[in-house]
Amino acid sequence: MKAQKTKSVCPKCRKVIDAVLIRKGNRVMMKKHCGKHGTFEEIVYDAKQFERVMKSMKYLSKPKNVPACPYDCEHCTAHQSQTILAIMDLTNRCNLNCRYCFANAAKSRYVYEPSLHQIDAMFSSIKKREPACNAVLFSGGEPTLRNDLPDIIRMATGMGFEVPLIATNGIRLATDLEYARKLNAAGLYLIYLSFDGFSDATNHEKRNHRIVERLLENCRRAGLQIMLVPTISRENSREAFRFIQFAARNADVVRGVNFQPVSFCGRMDAEERKMSRYTISDLCLDIEKQSDGVLKESEFYPVPSIVPFQKMLSRPGKVEMPLFTVHPLCGRATYIFKDKDRLVPITKVMDVPRLISLFDMAARYGKNGKGGNLAMVAMLREMKKSVHFDEMPEKSNMFKLLLQLILKRDLGTVLEIQSNSTFVGVMHFQDGYNMDLERLKRCGIHYVTPSNSLVPFCAYNNLGYRDRIEKKFSVPLDTANGLPGRENAEGRI
Ligand code: SF4
Ligand code: SF4
Ligand SMILES: [Zn+2]
Repeated sequence: MKAQKTKSVCPKCRKVIDAVLIRKGNRVMMKKHCGKHGTFEEIVYDAKQFERVMKSMKYLSKPKNVPACPYDCEHCTAHQSQTILAIMDLTNRCNLNCRYCFANAAKSRYVYEPSLHQIDAMFSSIKKREPACNAVLFSGGEPTLRNDLPDIIRMATGMGFEVPLIATNGIRLATDLEYARKLNAAGLYLIYLSFDGFSDATNHEKRNHRIVERLLENCRRAGLQIMLVPTISRENSREAFRFIQFAARNADVVRGVNFQPVSFCGRMDAEERKMSRYTISDLCLDIEKQSDGVLKESEFYPVPSIVPFQKMLSRPGKVEMPLFTVHPLCGRATYIFKDKDRLVPITKVMDVPRLISLFDMAARYGKNGKGGNLAMVAMLREMKKSVHFDEMPEKSNMFKLLLQLILKRDLGTVLEIQSNSTFVGVMHFQDGYNMDLERLKRCGIHYVTPSNSLVPFCAYNNLGYRDRIEKKFSVPLDTANGLPGRENAEGRI
């Protein structure tokens, strides 16, 4: 590969510095130098996989030059991707005390908990952007510590957020069925369950494997669905495929697995980082090995692969949904189907690369009225040839659902597709060592703040935004009790 220039930050002083991605053996490394703190080298990706995923850059436009990037996110109008998922932290209280967590009222001695009035204004500020983002993830801390969470979800659906989500450790939902039912009645459909392993050895921070069966049962009874979200590292990577099998086995209530390779938040020396760094490409290879080749690393597609499909669905001259234009190094995903005891990857059922090029062609020709209609008809005819009907799992009719989605473009069909399949995705959040501003400028996951600004996730958590914003809008822990929704400020349940 040719060396690729980019910008990064110094992991010590956070100053913006030049960086370069170079091949070293079978790895792609980021190399950078800070005049004050020296040279840093960081593992980024497996070199072979890098070449392949980077091809999807062709679906993205060139980012603009933003001289104040990444320290002007709150006022910036040049960000390259729209908000795909808005994150709203509802509290920094938690009923656990995980080592690597960003949010912790007990340690910081202040409580960050936006009021309903602030939340309402934050919803409006997300909706002001075009195209409108329909998905909002309530996070924290532990959002289920707020007793007014059902009201907040009701407010969200009332404002047109069709997909409200919560990020939770699951403890309250496993122990309080009534609360789970209230959340569902308010409009909650899916929870993002932070879940790192199946034993005390692999899940030693949260230990919520001990309650996971109870949680599944309560979710079934309350009508909630679960996305497993493991933080994956060299400590629990041996269970990577087990998460997928667990999801497929409980497909009535588990929609999939969204892995997050660990990011380094503290200071670490070079040797320690070399031993511990676990990348998306490591995970995809581990899944291939652990599944005996059932799910191959090449079957995980970089996020922008979906852009041609989204563009084709948009009406001529009008982009109606936020496009998934995040950088290919940020994430990859695939779908699998369960056929009796067999797991069938989507690539067995459909010729995915061929479909992507068909969608890309239809999206490009679709812009011209009559010609666009002809291109669409040709595309639908060709699409049928890209489906392997003999490999299709008995119960699912993906081809019919895909056609239905193209014709109806509705959320109902998206949910039907999801309930017929298991999603497997991975996103590697950045840290000070591997921060790449080319990735950051295209980030589609945005925190919304009480000052009604939107800040990309990896900037918010690494570049001082979180600290500054939380402090500005917090109250000291000692005075937080008794405020609405904050009855128990230490956060024990
Ligand atoms: S990361 Fe995005 S929003 Fe922030 S300054 Fe850079 S381009 Fe602007
Ligand atoms: S949150 Fe981080 S890893 Fe995810 S898209 Fe944004 S910049 Fe990339
Ligand atoms: Zn420095």
